[in-house]
Amino acid sequence: MRLLMVEDEKYMAEAVAQVLKKNNYTVDLAYNGEDGLDCGLSGIYDIIILDIMLPKMDGINILKELRKNGIETPVILLTARGEIEDKVRGLDSGADDYLAKPFHIDELLARLRALGRRKAKSLINDGILSYGDIKLNLHTLQLECGSKEAVLTLKESQLLELLIKRNGIIVSKDNIIEKLWGYDTDAEENRVEIYISLLRKKLAQLDSRVYIQTIRGAGYVLKTAKDGQ
Ligand code: CA
Repeated sequence: MRLLMVEDEKYMAEAVAQVLKKNNYTVDLAYNGEDGLDCGLSGIYDIIILDIMLPKMDGINILKELRKNGIETPVILLTARGEIEDKVRGLDSGADDYLAKPFHIDELLARLRALGRRKAKSLINDGILSYGDIKLNLHTLQLECGSKEAVLTLKESQLLELLIKRNGIIVSKDNIIEKLWGYDTDAEENRVEIYISLLRKKLAQLDSRVYIQTIRGAGYVLKTAKDGQ
């Protein structure tokens, strides 16, 4: 699981990140609100741990901005102890859980496991992503369009999942590399192009109206052709 922690108290953030890494999480840190929002918008995280009081942009506004942009990544908000108002505002803004600071690391680990389980469960119940005329089953990697179907490879499925979840927002090649191969990778941009082309072929085989548009210098975006086009 890949986590993003947005927390301006660097020393605390790094200490928490170390423990999380020992517990087999991959952790990226952002130390201010703007960087946190940029990272969150990449859509590559499984859970975001978000402090409320942050320089440049506060946690509640980051959360609102993420949800507005279709990013449904589960969010744990970090609130100062007893700030009931923060909790209410946070939950209203689409947070999945909150934790009062200072917290014990075991408490955070327990919340992360619970959110991870909840996410896994919702995927089992509802592991089908739809966009336009296609349906992608995240468990069987089957892609359906009307009565036709094709089976995707894991990487093709991960790529299509990312494009669908971004819902009309451009996905950069860097985002795709991070999602499919992780940050510590020497994967090059031409590998992204290969997978985009494989995915385009499968969409064409299914006669889907959904297509991947290349935005030169920016990335890719999923679109669906309108009637008569
Ligand atoms: Ca803070």
